[in-house]
Amino acid sequence: MQLKRVGEFKLIDILAKQSAGCSSAVIRGIGDDAAVIQSGKSECLLVTTDMLTEGVHFRREYTSPYFLGRKSLAVNLSDIAAMGGEPRCHVVSLAVPPGFPLRYVKDLYRGMDSLAGQFGSDLVGGDTVAAPEGLSLSITAIGTARTDRVVYRNGARPGDLVYVSGAVGDSFLGLQMLQITRQASRKNALVKKHLDPLPRIELGRDLARRGLASAMIDISDGLVADLRHVLEQSGAGAAIEAALLPLSKSYRKYCTSLSGDLYSPALCGGEDYELLFTVRPGDAKKIARLAGKHGVSLTCIGEITPQAGTVTVLNERGRPMPLPEEGFTHF
Ligand code: ADP
Ligand code: MG
Repeated sequence: MQLKRVGEFKLIDILAKQSAGCSSAVIRGIGDDAAVIQSGKSECLLVTTDMLTEGVHFRREYTSPYFLGRKSLAVNLSDIAAMGGEPRCHVVSLAVPPGFPLRYVKDLYRGMDSLAGQFGSDLVGGDTVAAPEGLSLSITAIGTARTDRVVYRNGARPGDLVYVSGAVGDSFLGLQMLQITRQASRKNALVKKHLDPLPRIELGRDLARRGLASAMIDISDGLVADLRHVLEQSGAGAAIEAALLPLSKSYRKYCTSLSGDLYSPALCGGEDYELLFTVRPGDAKKIARLAGKHGVSLTCIGEITPQAGTVTVLNERGRPMPLPEEGFTHF
């Protein structure tokens, strides 16, 4: 059977089952934002990898090598943030056509190093091979956390509140804008969010340290698609109110002309790299204080329900809305 008929997530499922069996040091293998490996009495390692491929994840016309370097590390550190961890180090594998300018690769690494410096991750190795066509970049990031503080996707319970950090949908609209204008004008807030997302490391760490998030994931595939991952693992459902979605000023300004529908990019657009997390209702006040401390909006957009696997999005009149195509998958 062809992979496109199997689908990305089913494929991962098949591979996970085929290769099941982990040593006792593996606290969590396949299935969360990062694997969790016991490394000391009360400390663990978080391991995650993400690959960016030219033509699939980026186009060289839209982004400079510097920002591509930053983003390629940011998406990995975002998975460390989603577990509540602290970035430590990363390795980088590069497949690059022999005709590529040296300058491009140096700028790519300058970008990567700038983000690494910002979040305290050290480049400690990698691999370099020639690619027949197109650049591919794979980064594996390693973080650490206190074992009893790691936040998984599977801890959401009915009645928990669903929160999202920052604003959602901007990255998708930024990409639309780049595709229309065909140039990388980073002055626009939407384009900036698409080209230079920042991992919510401090926030993720603080939520974990204070035991405030019952489940957490970063939004890479799209809000609803990533919420579904949380729900699958938690055996629960969710009801979301569209009117509560945090939409930025630029989003509201450009959304209808770029996408036609006010809520679709926020619900289904990917690559915002915001944190989606669930909170016991009694902790809502603490979340409000944390938002102030980190200078980031933390918005309650709905709640967890007992209906396993069901996501209902309610419109302004409290009626369920049909969901547009959900999130990004590779096959
Ligand atoms: P994220 O969006 O957080 O990067 P993914 O959806 O890419 O997560 O992956 C979900 C889970 O499946 C993760 O635990 C990841 O490590 C695992 N995974 C993805 N692809 C593979 C693969 N080819 N082989 C083994 N595990 C994989
Ligand atoms: Mg993730």
